[in-house]
Amino acid sequence: MSLETNNYSVARARMAREQLVPRGIHDQRVLDAMTTVPRHLFVEDALQNQAYGDFPLPIGAGQTISQPYIVALMTQALQLRGDENVLEIGTGCGYQTAILAQLADRVYSVERIKSLHIKARRTLDRLKYVNIVCKIDDGTLGWPNFSPFEAIMVTAASPDIPAPLLDQLADPGRMLIPVGDRYSQSLVVVKKQDGEITKETIEQVRFVSLIGLHGWQE
Ligand code: SAH
Repeated sequence: MSLETNNYSVARARMAREQLVPRGIHDQRVLDAMTTVPRHLFVEDALQNQAYGDFPLPIGAGQTISQPYIVALMTQALQLRGDENVLEIGTGCGYQTAILAQLADRVYSVERIKSLHIKARRTLDRLKYVNIVCKIDDGTLGWPNFSPFEAIMVTAASPDIPAPLLDQLADPGRMLIPVGDRYSQSLVVVKKQDGEITKETIEQVRFVSLIGLHGWQE
């Protein structure tokens, strides 16, 4: 056990106390996951001491890991109980994937950039997450083999809700997705219940683009 490990657990507790709770993150399971998952291990060494700051960070290949508050907000809005089959689009560094894996039964995560997929898989293996399945593909197509999903989390910005994701959402089910233009988006909670689809915007956000058949072109 090193002094460093202790310092980061203190940084995580402070992150929850100062950035999450005051902005309305109240789900204790989400707060527990956020204070447990070692976010600093998902970013490169030179950025580790900034990992618990109130901002996004670069993760390579022009992509970013979301600010802790946004990760917590999106996760809380999924209302996971622990028995769900979850689909995540945009593995990135795998941090959000790890949070979801703590709160659901199984997580299927798709990433289009090979270098990020490989790095994320390595980190998640190192941390011994056994309920995460990752692949390299265009996530706008979903992952039909493992559908339906009670929860779907899209962590890149889309011009619209990709039709395959709506099809693969269970009933009842919930999807979180940033929808808008390239520079600013509405974070939308999409609910499917008794065959009805409802949408509610919970925050204005700025995500990197979802690039694929049912997202943006390159
Ligand atoms: N949840 C991630 C956020 C990464 S940023 C994290 O915590 O690190 C969004 C990610 O979505 C990027 O890695 C980007 O490459 C990926 N992405 C963009 N379009 C995609 C698509 N069509 N399918 C899968 N991943 C995609």
